[in-house]
Amino acid sequence: MVVQKFGGTSVADPDAIRRLIEIVRTARARDGRGPVVVVSAMSKVTDALLKIAADAGESRTDAALAQVEQLRERHRGVATALVTDGARMPLLAQIDEQFDQLAAVVRALAVLREVSPRTLDVVAAMGELLSSRIIAAALAPAGLPGEWVDARRVIVTNDHFMEAAPLLRETYAALRASVAPILDAGRVPVMGGFVAATVDGTTTTLGRGGSDYSGALVGAGLDAAEIQIWTDVDGMLTADPRLVPEPRLVSQLSFSEAAELAYFGAKVLHPSTILPAVERDIPVRILNSRKPEGQGTIITAHAADSPTLLTGLAAKRDVTVVDITSSRMLNSYGFLRQVFEVFERFKTAVDVVTTSEVSVSVTVDDRRNLDAIVAALSACGEVAIEPEMALLCAVGDRLRNEPEIGARVIRVLEEVPLRMISQAASRRNITVVLRQADLPHAMHRLHEEFFR
Ligand code: ADP
Ligand code: ASP
Ligand code: MG
Repeated sequence: MVVQKFGGTSVADPDAIRRLIEIVRTARARDGRGPVVVVSAMSKVTDALLKIAADAGESRTDAALAQVEQLRERHRGVATALVTDGARMPLLAQIDEQFDQLAAVVRALAVLREVSPRTLDVVAAMGELLSSRIIAAALAPAGLPGEWVDARRVIVTNDHFMEAAPLLRETYAALRASVAPILDAGRVPVMGGFVAATVDGTTTTLGRGGSDYSGALVGAGLDAAEIQIWTDVDGMLTADPRLVPEPRLVSQLSFSEAAELAYFGAKVLHPSTILPAVERDIPVRILNSRKPEGQGTIITAHAADSPTLLTGLAAKRDVTVVDITSSRMLNSYGFLRQVFEVFERFKTAVDVVTTSEVSVSVTVDDRRNLDAIVAALSACGEVAIEPEMALLCAVGDRLRNEPEIGARVIRVLEEVPLRMISQAASRRNITVVLRQADLPHAMHRLHEEFFR
């Protein structure tokens, strides 16, 4: 049995959903059981829902309600195109009920003038709840026995709203209790990704892009043979196609390489997706839903050595460098602890760290608490920040044993001012921090050197 997760563009409209149905049919013909289908919201719906909540919270009620009606029409239109006869009316009624609820939330927010993370999750979750219901219903007219599963009953998380962490034991138990029987009955479970709930049933979400994570959790909980991530590109590419004009397809890579690429910006995979897969050693395959015959990218624990020196490049934009300089650092201990305690206190993750005799530099990409962090760090030393920086990461298992590759990365970037350089203990990536304005050029240089 495989788990098939479909991203926003792969469920964007009736044509996309018809392609999804054929992909499901093929998987079912191949191994008889399943598949389990996990879907994102239709493309741009999550953004639209968050915008509706923001508008409502600032009492732009009319604008928010107009967007609610637009979304309602889009979902009704897709449902009508795909679901015929007796199933259509109940489905449209469910869609209307969901949107009536959303309109009620908008009116409440407009009065309260405050949108909490908890409420944002209730609103954001609607995208996947709707798309999954529509797709579950669309399978029957195509001759497939779909059954809708409420993701809030199977993915169990803590209450860290908007970026909730799954409770694995509870989630796996719930999957076995409610999804396995559907498979046993010869049916095709369909559920929304991204959406989850706490132990007591309060709606949460796994963070933006989190449907991949749901797909992986479902795969791990049900011991799938493979977790498939169906998207709008051929697989993991050697670089972000929006930054490099003609990246190449990476046909295979290791879990560790994929984790580094995802963490440092390869948006095609949510960084946490790899964790459940690693734990149960389940291969993850990234595939293009417009070209289902492609081989895609296969991610496994032990991939063969890549034919290229590097496996891929990734980049994160809008990074801020924070420098803390203090002569107290010289020959003393405890200084770094003080510095990192500040980041801990403000729950802000740092990505890259470098130190010299009298200074520490770190990068952060969450700027929400930056002013407070800078103020608190002033107790440790002189603080300077540099915004509009980027992080460029070259990844490949071969970096571990072939030191000349790392040297070549730096040499290729010789005319680019590098602010920080870091190679971590895993030694499978080299990360440089540079001005955002220099990123396209640096990406291009590296890509030409290693992948042409
Ligand atoms: P989905 O909606 O299917 O989850 P996403 O938009 O989240 O799709 O991820 C797919 C997108 O990721 C691609 O369209 C591409 O623009 C972007 N991307 C960034 N880096 C990479 C990479 N290294 N390989 C493939 N895609 C990448
Ligand atoms: N719909 C959610 C988002 O846009 C989750 C996902 O698509 O993975 O972030
Ligand atoms: Mg995604």
